[in-house]
Amino acid sequence: MTQATTPALPASGDLAGLPRTLKGKVALVTGSTSGIGLGIARALAARGATLILNGFGDAAEIEALRAGMAAAFHVEVDFEPADLSRTAEIEALVKRVEARHGAVNILVNNAGIQHVAPIDAFPPDRWDAVIALNLSAVFHLTRCVLPRMKQFSYGRIINIASAHGLVASVEKAAYVAAKHGVVGLTKVTALETARSGITCNAICPGWVLTPLVQKQIDARAAAQGISVQEAKLALVGEKQPSMEFVTPDQLGELAAFLCSDAASQVRGAAWTMDGGWTSQ
Ligand code: NAD
Repeated sequence: MTQATTPALPASGDLAGLPRTLKGKVALVTGSTSGIGLGIARALAARGATLILNGFGDAAEIEALRAGMAAAFHVEVDFEPADLSRTAEIEALVKRVEARHGAVNILVNNAGIQHVAPIDAFPPDRWDAVIALNLSAVFHLTRCVLPRMKQFSYGRIINIASAHGLVASVEKAAYVAAKHGVVGLTKVTALETARSGITCNAICPGWVLTPLVQKQIDARAAAQGISVQEAKLALVGEKQPSMEFVTPDQLGELAAFLCSDAASQVRGAAWTMDGGWTSQ
């Protein structure tokens, strides 16, 4: 593992001096209590956006996160606990944010789960759960925020797909199907908004060392009787030529770019940040 060779990005506190290019914008980042979503939320808050956090976790820890981010970046930060696998909760969430803030100007569809099993042993309820959150929630959130975005002639929709939105791996039927679906939905959304100030793009990360991936590393270590460190190296080495994990901070910077004016003609892209995974 050569992770240490990657130049360190500024810690979240250091982001506080960045230009406030997203001041006045309201950003909803789903699944932002952990991992990639949290990295993206920090990058957008650092640029002055009002942040709506969402996700599961310990209530006291989430409140500390919310208050800490508001204080570090001098922005308003709300937390919305909606379970995005439920359509009614998505609709209520968007209505609440619009009533309080006027509109969702930036939507980052990031919340996601994984289940690993061969197709003939894939539990149907796990298929339904992965499709509901990783694909259907992206559709429902997009459907719900678009009318106000159209009214204001501005919007940024960023869908966190995956290298698995472009290529497949064994034992990830639901995840790969959902992520390929997200890449397709991104293109449709981009076409339907092409003549407006609304853009829609997907980001396709390779391996990022988050709780979602740590579970897969722990399962591999247990199944193969190897150490967690050996399992981590095997996992990243199998797919990612750089042999380094992508970081949530790096993905946050890419999301911030997609929100910028410079990215106004980036439309319908499936932008990889995968250490070379999908170049093979
Ligand atoms: P994570 O497990 O660290 O975070 C997932 C977030 O989603 C958490 O905040 C969790 O509370 C939230 N969440 C889970 N179920 C939810 C629900 N029903 N409603 C609302 N929120 C819910 O995972 P991560 O690795 O940061 O993954 C984030 C996204 O990035 C996912 O869509 C994942 O597929 C994608 N991704 C991850 C990797 C990786 O290597 N980690 C690679 C490519 C793509």
